Amino acid sequence: MSQPGEVAHDRAWLAELAWSPGLGLRANVLLEAAGDRFSRVTPQAGQIPPEAVRLPGLTLPGLANAHSHAFHRALRGITQASRGTFWTWRERMYEVAQRLDPDSYLNLARSVYAEMALAGVTCVGEFHYLHHGPGGVPYAAPNEMGRALVRAAAEAGIRITLLDTCYLAGGLGPDGALLPLAGPQLRFGDGDGARWAARVAALGADETGMLGPGARAGAAIHSVRAVPPAQMGEVIGWSHHHGAPLHAHLSEQAAENTACLAAYGATPAAVLDEAGALGPRTSLVHATHLTRPDIRLLGQSRSHACFCPTTEADLADGIGPAGRLAAAGATLTIGSDSHAVIDLLEEARRVELGERLATRERGHFTAAELATAATLAGHASLGWPDAGQLAPGAMADLVVVRLDSVRTAGSVPASALESVIFGATAGDVRDVIVGGRDVVRDGQHLLVADVPAALHDAITTVLE
Ligand SMILES: [Zn+2]
Repeated sequence: MSQPGEVAHDRAWLAELAWSPGLGLRANVLLEAAGDRFSRVTPQAGQIPPEAVRLPGLTLPGLANAHSHAFHRALRGITQASRGTFWTWRERMYEVAQRLDPDSYLNLARSVYAEMALAGVTCVGEFHYLHHGPGGVPYAAPNEMGRALVRAAAEAGIRITLLDTCYLAGGLGPDGALLPLAGPQLRFGDGDGARWAARVAALGADETGMLGPGARAGAAIHSVRAVPPAQMGEVIGWSHHHGAPLHAHLSEQAAENTACLAAYGATPAAVLDEAGALGPRTSLVHATHLTRPDIRLLGQSRSHACFCPTTEADLADGIGPAGRLAAAGATLTIGSDSHAVIDLLEEARRVELGERLATRERGHFTAAELATAATLAGHASLGWPDAGQLAPGAMADLVVVRLDSVRTAGSVPASALESVIFGATAGDVRDVIVGGRDVVRDGQHLLVADVPAALHDAITTVLE
């Protein structure tokens, strides 16, 4: 029973150490939740309710994986065995895309999202373009694949923003000519922006873009390679109407810039800006090969720049200008993209380490700035500004990272966040709570019994 003046709670936790944007690093933080949200957050708590669950280690807000293509997980390892380029990797990726159906994609995505939950991810931004059946023939229910992804996230216990992606062309030739969709790409295409919008309307999102509990819809322009400027308006308009996130791949490869300049006489960032695509609800994924004016456009529009450093390294993309983007006013977020690994701590530290390699100077981003990118900023970029921090009214997401593992042992409380961001891995995540609900306890997923076996079964089914 709560006393007059007290805030009611259903659950309570006492974090030995906790870090959050807005709170900083604090000891003995009492976290109370009513339903799926925090009702009260009290550092240096004096009175501890007896039911409070003690959380040793460092407690963080939920991590947001702002850029994912779930099916790319099936390629881990396989594509490391060969040489080649981004473009040869893309051919292997298309082979997997060709084989998936709604059932096999549900199984694969559920296991991939369960792997994410084990890594502390409480919300995923799924950049989804595998819409149609083989040959591009629509399914009887036109959003069957997207619905499978929403269901997969629910069954893995995490929230999802389904970034429904418009993908109309097979690329820009070196001379700037648009190439038609071909082969497996046919499954991605809706024909034009209006038909993309009609299919997305059938998803049944409400006025605010919600698809159901824990799921919301967002929009995506795959890239300037795949969507001609004249067709971008439908996608941008849909996102404005719903106040929904708008994501796009941007300048991941130098060849994209060359072809875009040949086609439109402007860089990809300038083309997106001209179409009205930039702004605080927008995320530009990769943002690797940018000109000075491009960086200004992203900064002045207060867009998000989503870095996916393990994928960008794996695909030999290059190192994006994270420091200059942040200085210009863009907000950094983090994604695991192709899932070369699923480890947002690794992604976060690589943003700083990439800057160090590029500039040969240390100390561009603090651990707190990197952690903010992986929590509050990432959630906001996915349309959940009320998540990613330990604060009253925020979604009650908690990620407990061990400070007694072989990687983190010896850390001192004052620099626990630095120890975690620069030294811990996804394997050090012990407990994960999503919206007040236990999803991972002591390193075990509570909803998917055996995540490695689920991954094995789902991936071998797709590859055989
Ligand atoms: Zn991507």
